[in-house]
Amino acid sequence: MPNNRSAAEISECIRCGTCCKKGGPSLHHEDTVLIEKGLILSKYLFTIREGEMSYDNVTGQLIPASSDIIKIKGRKGSLTCVFFNEPESACTIYDKRPLECRILECWDTREIERVYAKTRLTRKHLVSTIAGLWDLIDDHQARCSYEKINRLLKMLGGDNKDDALKEILEMIQYDTQIREMTVQKGGLDPDIVDFLFGRPIKETIGMYGFKLKKQGDAYRLITIPTGQNL
Ligand code: SF4
Repeated sequence: MPNNRSAAEISECIRCGTCCKKGGPSLHHEDTVLIEKGLILSKYLFTIREGEMSYDNVTGQLIPASSDIIKIKGRKGSLTCVFFNEPESACTIYDKRPLECRILECWDTREIERVYAKTRLTRKHLVSTIAGLWDLIDDHQARCSYEKINRLLKMLGGDNKDDALKEILEMIQYDTQIREMTVQKGGLDPDIVDFLFGRPIKETIGMYGFKLKKQGDAYRLITIPTGQNL
């Protein structure tokens, strides 16, 4: 439906799709049933891990996540929610859409602001009863936490920078290999690894002003010029 009205004139959902194009929703405890019943498959989800820098929709700032945030993926190369049907300007899971989508009123954001950071669903809620898989996730989290990444990145400016760099590169290698291993040896769908292990560190490290560069068989960490952070 064409939307010719200004934001000030809107007092009901006119299905303009603006909210669905700004990124998929974060999931809450109330959405557990959607996962458990297979109405939303885990291949459509990704995890922002505790401590990872993430865009806060309410404050509009990039801040560290206070816990896991499970989100619905965007379409490749865009923020638009994977369940949004652009030509029809419609949600393809409308009757089963998550809590945030049900309570969001773009003309009055008080309710979404009240709920936004509460009762967030985490990987522990969804996967901790799956023996073996949860141990893998827990081990990955211990070895690759954002607390550790932050600490090592800060050390790059100090006397122990060589040790810190070595540890970061080993961490990125492990983070990459565990994804490949769960797919190749564990037979898991490659589309679910960003839900199980969060976004690859070799990508998220861009938010800290660094990127990986391959040189022969080895990787180097280089600084991204100011203003070009991912
Ligand atoms: S789940 Fe549906 S309503 Fe929610 S953001 Fe995606 S397309 Fe929009």
